[in-house]
Amino acid sequence: CGIVGYAGNVETACGKPLEVCLQGLERLEYRGYDSAGVALTAPGMDKVAVRKKAGRLKNLVESIERKPMPVATVGIGHTRWATNGEPSDVNAHPHTSMDGKVAIIHNGIIENASQLRLDLQAEGYRFASATDTEVAAKLLGKIVDKVIEEQGHPNLFEAVRRMARMLQGAFTILATDCRQPDIVVGARHDSPLVVGLGDGENFLGSDVAAFVAYTKRAMEVDQDQAVCVSADSVVVTDFDGNVVSNPKTYTVDWD
Ligand code: GLU
Repeated sequence: CGIVGYAGNVETACGKPLEVCLQGLERLEYRGYDSAGVALTAPGMDKVAVRKKAGRLKNLVESIERKPMPVATVGIGHTRWATNGEPSDVNAHPHTSMDGKVAIIHNGIIENASQLRLDLQAEGYRFASATDTEVAAKLLGKIVDKVIEEQGHPNLFEAVRRMARMLQGAFTILATDCRQPDIVVGARHDSPLVVGLGDGENFLGSDVAAFVAYTKRAMEVDQDQAVCVSADSVVVTDFDGNVVSNPKTYTVDWD
């Protein structure tokens, strides 16, 4: 329902991904939600750090206060409006790959999730939740591994594009991989995604409210496009990998 993403580097980020995600989610509260969660990544992690809770955002905040999360360079945050699977801690986003190295958040409904789930189960993939989103998470983990095999290094951007080509239905998806702790990758189809342009940091949101407290410079991600955001770069492509040369930028005129 509500989506926030943040990419910084070791100098700019220090603790900021979590702050940006929680503030952004608070700003997106008006959309309504039943659960909230974050995933954080930093150099040296062997899994993405995930925390998620059913109920109000304060449940998540209290959980993090009780047991602090690691300092990170990039982060993604989600408030969920359940469509597939009841509101619960387990069904809340982020959802992860089998090895816990990749995490995603998702707005929308993946129409071919049941078939994809059956295919993955037949290959031995196990599911913790009842959501369509976890199907995309397991699928993405599988594709990430395949891309590593083919290219010899992790390439989350390429993996997200391949996943996007396999999904039917509506989605805005953000993904993070602990082997690439400098980027957040997004993709959208029939659901919105906006980039916020900062200095030495960049933002993503399901709408500009997610990051307007930090920057008023925004960039559109169009239908069927993917985006890779780091502290100092933003690259937009179509789902086949063709780079969009001049994505439209604009200034947000409210706060
Ligand atoms: N279909 C997903 C779920 O039920 C995402 C719902 C949303 O947009 O928040 O978990």
